[in-house]
Amino acid sequence: MENRGLKLSKYSLGTGDRFAHQAKAQLQACIQALASGVEVVPVWNKSNREHSIIGSEPASVRQAADAAVKALGWKLPYFCDADHITLETAGRFLGACDFYTIDVADFIGQAATADEIDSFVKRRPELIGRIQLEGTEEAFEITAEDLRQTAQKYLTAVKKAGEVYRTIVAAKGAGNFISEVSMDETDGAQSPVELLIILAAIADEGIPVQTIAPKFSGRFNKGVDYIGDLSQFAHEFELDVAAIAYAVSHFGLPENLKLSVHSGSDKFSIYPAIHAAMKKFNAGVHLKTAGTTWLEELIGLAEAGGDGLALAKEIYAQAFAHREELCAPYATVIDIDPARLPSPDEVRGWSSEQYTSALRHVRGAAAYNSSLRQLLHVGFKVAAKMGRRYLELLEANETVIAKNVTENLFERHIAPVFLGR
Ligand SMILES: [Zn+2]
Repeated sequence: MENRGLKLSKYSLGTGDRFAHQAKAQLQACIQALASGVEVVPVWNKSNREHSIIGSEPASVRQAADAAVKALGWKLPYFCDADHITLETAGRFLGACDFYTIDVADFIGQAATADEIDSFVKRRPELIGRIQLEGTEEAFEITAEDLRQTAQKYLTAVKKAGEVYRTIVAAKGAGNFISEVSMDETDGAQSPVELLIILAAIADEGIPVQTIAPKFSGRFNKGVDYIGDLSQFAHEFELDVAAIAYAVSHFGLPENLKLSVHSGSDKFSIYPAIHAAMKKFNAGVHLKTAGTTWLEELIGLAEAGGDGLALAKEIYAQAFAHREELCAPYATVIDIDPARLPSPDEVRGWSSEQYTSALRHVRGAAAYNSSLRQLLHVGFKVAAKMGRRYLELLEANETVIAKNVTENLFERHIAPVFLGR
């Protein structure tokens, strides 16, 4: 499949900006990367769910991105990602976005018909048998039964992705946007073998996919580190990268196809394995680390002291009071220990330093509190409800917030993943 039109660079960073005030500070992190010798292009992503909670429209993401690019003189590509869209939600993103994360996780496991499975197996006889992956000692042994079972589980989802893709093509024209297919928001991880078979089905569906987001094994909770077997992750990630290289050369998918890691932010302990695989296979990666810019806003407000610190405390108190309703939509991706949540009264007595060191995700720091961090991570609805009051304080404290946003993205994410340090 020839990849004409828009092309995603080898290294890209998906970043979110819930309140559309930090695009410049985020772009600054990419500028810092460039100065350190690596091109990482920014992709601003925001899902339909986030837009609904905040009360924003996709056009606001585009405006903020364009303005930041103009203000800082960024000459490389950049994109706006309609994150986790479906047929139902794609419509509102068609004007503003040039990157579409087509989410078909809900269709995984919806059985394909016998006819569909038969014709897939007939089209892809080369998948049965032994497949040696370049660059690894491993080979996949795929039986006809394995192929049928994987098709049974994933074919409907891939066909759905094709439907969404063609809807976007009808509105925007082929080549005028980047396509990603995501399957990460589901319970079970996809194995590298499954990924390979899924990619064959995506090629059959005619989707010029440039990034694919599988679900990896282990837990990817929101805003906190990875929980799982690190060596297993490293092995699986390498095989995924090798499977993608195989899919590019054998199924004719775009040559820049790469993995998209929907990190849920802050998966620091797997970053070395990701970097090592990128190096070993000369592979690109798209790292989505969307949600924590909002936490850097809170950190900046707390650091500023005065009204900023007072507001950060008030947001915690309200998030604490409404924790059940705030956590419910994220139940499968957060693990909050209620016993570790300080009372709002206690937090009211905190200094700037106490607040920021509890919230800031510095690995191994004694004061860091992952339960508090996860609660505030899902608590952005509280700030959204404050409306102008919150935004005015963001504007008044722009400098201190921007410093935290840039430093977080560059030091904690870009440097370990793209620079290997
Ligand atoms: Zn995701």
